[in-house]
Amino acid sequence: MPEGHGPNSDEEEDSPGAVVKRPELIPTATEKWKQKAFHSLVRKMMYNPHMGGAKCPFCDEIFAKETSALDHFEARYAEGERDYRKWWDYSWAMQQLQTSGSIPPGSSLIVESGPQGLPYEHFIGVRQEMDLVKKTTRKKKRKPNSVTSASKPAKAA
Ligand SMILES: [Zn+2]
Repeated sequence: MPEGHGPNSDEEEDSPGAVVKRPELIPTATEKWKQKAFHSLVRKMMYNPHMGGAKCPFCDEIFAKETSALDHFEARYAEGERDYRKWWDYSWAMQQLQTSGSIPPGSSLIVESGPQGLPYEHFIGVRQEMDLVKKTTRKKKRKPNSVTSASKPAKAA
């Protein structure tokens, strides 16, 4: 990530309301974690016999087959990521305009905290699932803490 702050950026701290916080760009996920998240989401979807399938957690689409749900996640995630990157470029450009003085400080510059729309909902939902999957995987690998296990003698089962 390039450093965006010039030597004069300290002056802006007098008017904190005018400074738009630079959004953080979520790095592209690796295919491995993305697929793990998709599968984890599919496992959480409940099959409803009245609907003839399981509902997507982020929209109203119903899937009779696991593969169609996976395809749906894949497609919506890609769209959502595109929307997200477009939005990120836009909000960053807006901030540049404001810090360069092209937009007077204090003018009502509203930058949404994220892009709007269903694809983005899927993108963000999958990213959260990805974090969960990563945490669970890490927990399984973690060695037991020798200090706490020593102070707490294990009870016989
Ligand atoms: Zn959906």
